[in-house]
Amino acid sequence: MDVAFHPLVVRVRPETDDSATITFDVPEHLRDLFRHEPGQHVVLRADIDGEDVRRSYSICSAPGAPLRVGVKRIPGGRFSTWATTELRDGDRLDVLPPIGEFVHRTDPTRAASYVLVAAGSGITPILAMATTILATEPESTCTLVYGNRRVASIMFLEELEALKNRWPDRFRLLHVLSREPHDIPLFAGRIDLDKVRMLAGGLIDVDRVDSWYLCGPLGMVEDVQAALADLGVPAARVHAELFYDERVESVPEVDESSAGSVPFTVTIDGRSSTLHVDPDGPSLLDYARTVRSGVPFACKGGMCATCKAKVLCGEVTMAKNYALTPDEVADGFVLTCQAHPVAGSDPVTVSFDVHGGIGR
Ligand SMILES: Cc1cc2nc3c(=O)[nH]c(=O)nc-3n(C[C@H](O)[C@H](O)[C@H](O)COP(=O)(O)OP(=O)(O)OC[C@H]3O[C@@H](n4cnc5c(N)ncnc54)[C@H](O)[C@@H]3O)c2cc1C
Repeated sequence: MDVAFHPLVVRVRPETDDSATITFDVPEHLRDLFRHEPGQHVVLRADIDGEDVRRSYSICSAPGAPLRVGVKRIPGGRFSTWATTELRDGDRLDVLPPIGEFVHRTDPTRAASYVLVAAGSGITPILAMATTILATEPESTCTLVYGNRRVASIMFLEELEALKNRWPDRFRLLHVLSREPHDIPLFAGRIDLDKVRMLAGGLIDVDRVDSWYLCGPLGMVEDVQAALADLGVPAARVHAELFYDERVESVPEVDESSAGSVPFTVTIDGRSSTLHVDPDGPSLLDYARTVRSGVPFACKGGMCATCKAKVLCGEVTMAKNYALTPDEVADGFVLTCQAHPVAGSDPVTVSFDVHGGIGR
């Protein structure tokens, strides 16, 4: 993975009252580096009042179209508030090349049925997937179940309507609104276990769905996964990306008292540094950042995989993992923001220079 940020010129457009799209001008010499697959995300970095703030944003455009993300403002949110109110056309924003294994690999010969489930800003990678599927898989169909609070907060409403008008027989759009009454109970409330059961009992024939793509906060994603498991859907058909873990706890800082007994060597850009870490202390990412600059990270919540690295020696455990595939874990990859040595482990060596990814 290229861990260097590239300062790209932006164009900012309001999307709803509390969201904006940011389109990046990718110069010719960076085009290959910034090529993406539908579902991937970029990490954006800005200096906000002297603080280095970085966050992940999924790419909402289809491959080949200008690189674009959609940012929803979170009340009190550091980056999203800045990006939707302060960022201006012509400014430069630091961007890491696209990453992520939550991808749809398109196949024009496929005749598949896809169900896409998104809540709020979780629409961004799903929009890229729907646009790509409809344009490149002429025999495939998509149903999008899209949850929002109210109509005014629906991101990409017009673009989705345009997709529906263009492919009325292949694209079905079901809005679910939690804060606006609806005559039909199915379309009111949140996307949760009951909602999926109701959909499965009527509008969606679960047995005929080839792939499910889910994106949103942890609660919604877990509910839909549990409902689908109950309905007998094999887990391999269900792909998910988390934007936000509402249960996330604050991360302990590294200070002198954090030093521990397990030797930990971190390799990045071909150079290694060693320190001693405490298995019950901060994450390997936080330790690594004390000795090396340029260690890649963004969400620090086990969701975005920016901090993925390979364990070459020693035994390491992860507190949580919402981003790596079972194959990646079997290959020795960890999310360093969630990684700690097992107590009594041999010296641990972790490399950020080994690449690998299989697809989720
Ligand atoms: C892989 C990935 C892709 C993502 N793609 C997008 C995207 O396309 N569009 C987008 O708008 N966001 C996306 N996010 C979320 C984004 O990275 C930020 O977390 C979000 O914009 C909030 O950042 P902030 O700095 O404004 O808020 P912070 O200052 O980090 O948080 C402020 C407060 O809001 C809470 N909070 C943080 N995030 C959320 C949230 N999403 N919903 C509700 N409360 C929250 C925090 O717990 C905290 O209390 C993505 C996240 C991941 C991991």
